[in-house]
Amino acid sequence: MENKRICKKCLLRDKAPNEQIDLNKYLSVISENEKTPPSVYEKRLNICRQCDLLLEATCQACGCYVEFRAAVKHSRCPKKKW
Ligand code: SF4
Repeated sequence: MENKRICKKCLLRDKAPNEQIDLNKYLSVISENEKTPPSVYEKRLNICRQCDLLLEATCQACGCYVEFRAAVKHSRCPKKKW
């Protein structure tokens, strides 16, 4: 039986190469005018990293991968943290 470690505060970008999903492929479907500016994106992700609702890159309040949710400019944190 595989002993899988769960990292509560990890983002997809932090996962081991064999567990990575192609984040850029998903982010590439967001049009440039809908994308969150890079500095705001990183600020959002840093808030998620501090949040108790982050579990393995997923927000437990909305079920989204936070790196996708944060990448869309008009998206909001379901708990109004960003
Ligand atoms: S509740 Fe907000 S800050 Fe917390 S993980 Fe979800 S999106 Fe991020």
